[in-house]
Amino acid sequence: MNLWQLQTEEVFKKYGSSMDGLTTESAQAKMAEVGPNELLEKKRKPAWKIFLNQFKDFMIVVLLAAAIVAGIAGDLTDTIIIVVIVVLNAIVGFVQENKAEKAMEALKKISALKAHVRRDGKLVTIDSAALVPGDLVELEAGNIVPADIRLVEAHGLRVNESALTGESVPVEKTNRQIQEEDLPLGDRLNMSYKTTLVTNGRAKGVVTATGMSTEIGAIAKMLQQGEEVTPLQKRMADFGKKLSYLVILICVLFFGVGYLMDEDPLNMLLTSISLAVAAIPEALPALITVALAAGAKRLVKKNALIRKLSAVETLGSVTFICSDKTGTLTQNKMKVTKSESENSETLFGKLSVFECSIALNHDVKKNVNKELTGDPTEIALIEYFNEHHDAESFSELSEKLPRVAELPFDSERKLMTTVHQLDNKYLIICKGAVESLTATLEDQHDVPRILEKASDWSAEGTRVIAFGYKVADKMPAPFDSQTVERDFTFTGLTGMIDPPREEARLAIKECKTAGITTVMITGDHPATAAAIAKQIGILTEKDLVVTGKELQAMNDSEFDQKVEQIRVYARVSPEQKLRIVKALQRKKHFVSMTGDGVNDAPSLKASDIGVAMGIAGTDVSKEAADMILLDDNFATIVKAVKEGRHIYDNIRKFVKYIMTCNSAEIWTMFLAPLVGLPIPLLPIHILWINLVTDGLPGLALGSEKAEPDIMTRPPRKTNESLFAGGIGLHIAWVGFLMAVITLATEAWAVNNKMPHWQTMVFTVLSLSQLGHVMGIRSDRQLLFKLGIFSNRPLLGAVLLTFLLQLGVIYLPFANELFKTQPLSMGELAACIGASLVVLTGVEIEKLFKKKHQVNTAG
Ligand code: ADP
Ligand code: MG
Repeated sequence: MNLWQLQTEEVFKKYGSSMDGLTTESAQAKMAEVGPNELLEKKRKPAWKIFLNQFKDFMIVVLLAAAIVAGIAGDLTDTIIIVVIVVLNAIVGFVQENKAEKAMEALKKISALKAHVRRDGKLVTIDSAALVPGDLVELEAGNIVPADIRLVEAHGLRVNESALTGESVPVEKTNRQIQEEDLPLGDRLNMSYKTTLVTNGRAKGVVTATGMSTEIGAIAKMLQQGEEVTPLQKRMADFGKKLSYLVILICVLFFGVGYLMDEDPLNMLLTSISLAVAAIPEALPALITVALAAGAKRLVKKNALIRKLSAVETLGSVTFICSDKTGTLTQNKMKVTKSESENSETLFGKLSVFECSIALNHDVKKNVNKELTGDPTEIALIEYFNEHHDAESFSELSEKLPRVAELPFDSERKLMTTVHQLDNKYLIICKGAVESLTATLEDQHDVPRILEKASDWSAEGTRVIAFGYKVADKMPAPFDSQTVERDFTFTGLTGMIDPPREEARLAIKECKTAGITTVMITGDHPATAAAIAKQIGILTEKDLVVTGKELQAMNDSEFDQKVEQIRVYARVSPEQKLRIVKALQRKKHFVSMTGDGVNDAPSLKASDIGVAMGIAGTDVSKEAADMILLDDNFATIVKAVKEGRHIYDNIRKFVKYIMTCNSAEIWTMFLAPLVGLPIPLLPIHILWINLVTDGLPGLALGSEKAEPDIMTRPPRKTNESLFAGGIGLHIAWVGFLMAVITLATEAWAVNNKMPHWQTMVFTVLSLSQLGHVMGIRSDRQLLFKLGIFSNRPLLGAVLLTFLLQLGVIYLPFANELFKTQPLSMGELAACIGASLVVLTGVEIEKLFKKKHQVNTAG
């Protein structure tokens, strides 16, 4: 027998389950048997593979080969030291990459899907990975079905199964047994499958398969995604490729020149290959990933969970933030402040229809701790009821007037209807937005008067909910909005306030200086929305408020004309959010959009940074988002933008540093023979500078604090090159300056027949880079203003590198390995003095830029 052919009881029997679900014990036993409910993702790269990957770079292989050849031909120490340096390099890369992988994995764990199940008879929320066959799962609109499930209860359940069947229209599901034996997946109406999306209604079902045994598990291989490459990494990799051709060309030329000058060919070969290895920034894309992953880790501490790494990089480019009002800009702590009953008829004991409606029409549940959970709007209504009635009335009402059917709330209809057994009749209660509800009333009502009152309340920032009811002899059929939600009698209005979040006001102000426009989107009444928007500084006199209806009446070109002036969208449906995103994008804006419902998924996907709510958000919206707010707070988006700009800045500084160092090495080595000087450095010197001098301080640049203007400058254009704002020029000229100073030192020392000339050249180039790194900590602020101590990790790295350099000069065994000689105090002082020229140059560059107001904003 197939699962869909079974009776509910047979299903329970088959899995040893019931409406109370499994016991924790039996679930554990089952887990030991079948394993976790996970689709096997692409396996994590094993550590040794990450390590070996560090060597797969072509130039590194060439270098090792050349070193071995050189070793065989003569100098074994050189070979050993080159191998040691390359291995050290690999270890650094390995540690970094491994850390990044771990950070990303940890982030994935936080965003793991949850499932609501009954265990030991109680409703609990567990990781969906912990589900086992037999578990009784509860589903509601917005959930991603966590396993394959046979439904035992279904209320208006609709499921989008396009992931499995390709059919994009949601399918209506039932709990009824189906006779047919041979049924394609799409027709198994009492089954629901892992990864499909619940779009409406709610249901209960028994888990029948988990993990790779599910239907989707069978095709899971097809779903495996490739590794994500961010735009920056892609640009960096493309650039790196072009650059490496240039570098190789230079190195070949360099080799040729050396050969003509009768240098030892083997030595020249090793030198030019070392130079190529040092100057090709092959590790940059990987280092950028590391920086982005580290940024993602920092962001999660600020309650912003990154789902796509590229978001970290592009956050800084956001120009428009479109935010939901309720819960994001406001606290979502609703409190009913006024109500007005229009109907004095009593229904049940001494309670009026109005009071009964407030207590009955809701989806609020009590959790294990007896707290109310569910929609804050409805919780507020129940709390209001409880304030005015004794404790028993509420539960008595729910018992005596049991709910037999419902049409759940959705933001499209803005209505919710419940049906209750009233003796042998049916009490039908409806509540919702005032325009929606008045449209369902019987003819004799004075609708304009009701609307006017609601509008007055709304202008004070109050959210108004209207109620209506009717009594029917039989259950309406078919049970849908069209037949049920009509001919109501008006019962009354309630008004509730939802105070704005304190932080929102400040965050919006910060956005303004940062060139970011904040827009409010809500299903609420335009007057309510406008009142709140004014309070928090989104809306000023000259800005526009537009309703969903007005939006619908506009065509695209009319909308495009206004879209940049609109600050509040009220009474909009989630579908319209997509239009808003598209219109802003047509105006070349970089748009962040928030959302929490199922219908928000398309607009989240279409926006440049889709933001879902961690607390109130549905699974579907979270899946579609680039970032999840763990605290549902608008201010968190702004913090993330700031952090994004900061991270990008630091990456830019890092690239600037590494590339300038590389350019200096190339200039030095290439120019020396051309001006008639001996080859300045040995291969090991080059490799040392590349690993130690460039590496340590470069990494520490990542700890640089945000520049003071980080949120007062305009957003960075997304297509802006990493080398924009004069960085390319900086790399060329500062590299050249370093080379000139190094070569000047060489010329002076060689002319004066100083035996230590090479050690001096090596030292000057090393120390110049240390001066440089201190200088480029800020794009605009002078170092003395910034303070030497304001980036301690970097200061530490610089001091350590300086000590290491001294070690290389003064320790006897290092002299042996690096072919260096101890410098006299005078020589060392000369080297330090020469190195400071570069720092001075960089500081002058800042002054020059300030004067000419060259905008280097990132
Ligand atoms: P928002 O975007 O502010 O969250 P919603 O789409 O949730 O707005 O709500 C839109 C309107 O629907 C509200 O102004 C209110 O009148 C009504 N409404 C909200 N929640 C409920 C509910 N649970 N039941 C009935 N009506 C509701
Ligand atoms: Mg809402």
